[in-house]
Amino acid sequence: MCSEHIPTTAAEDTKPSLSRRTLIRGASAAVVAGGALLGGAVPALAATSQNGWPASEKLPLTAIKVGKADFPPGVLKGNVAVVLTYVAQQFNAHVEPLHDGWCWGFSYRKISGSTQYSNHSSGTAIDCNAPDHPLGKEGTFTKAQVAAIHKIISYCDGVVRWGGDYNGRKDEMHFEINVGPSSPKLPALVKKIKG
Ligand SMILES: [Zn+2]
Repeated sequence: MCSEHIPTTAAEDTKPSLSRRTLIRGASAAVVAGGALLGGAVPALAATSQNGWPASEKLPLTAIKVGKADFPPGVLKGNVAVVLTYVAQQFNAHVEPLHDGWCWGFSYRKISGSTQYSNHSSGTAIDCNAPDHPLGKEGTFTKAQVAAIHKIISYCDGVVRWGGDYNGRKDEMHFEINVGPSSPKLPALVKKIKG
């Protein structure tokens, strides 16, 4: 599976993560100012993945099964699962059939060469038919397939990003949630999908 995502533009998903860190640092400073901090301990920064979602080894995951494929060990329960299942279903129906054993979901790990957690670490990313669309390789889909992928992405109103659209190193197997946990765009898309 892919585990090597790198940020592609400055305006990317680092924003929710940074703002969260700033908040936590602010809270820590307030505690110090109040003299309540014992032993000089500094609260650890809560880990978030690149897109601002909590990254942890223990997350509430749900298995998803689309066509012949599942995405072990699953993705984050709730709205994220609804959206990523939709993406996988559309991919299976309009891009190419998903292969059993070639698709992946949650994986707790940092991006190689970075201190940042991959969006797989928050259960907010999936890889589709990984062996046919390896990390860093461009042009693994036909023009028609790319058009079908962009149709799916377009339907998702900015909530989902495709790794083939990264400005830097491409990751054509990869789809991820592209908004933070508090974005109203996510429940709006779920409503649209369910509607
Ligand atoms: Zn991936």
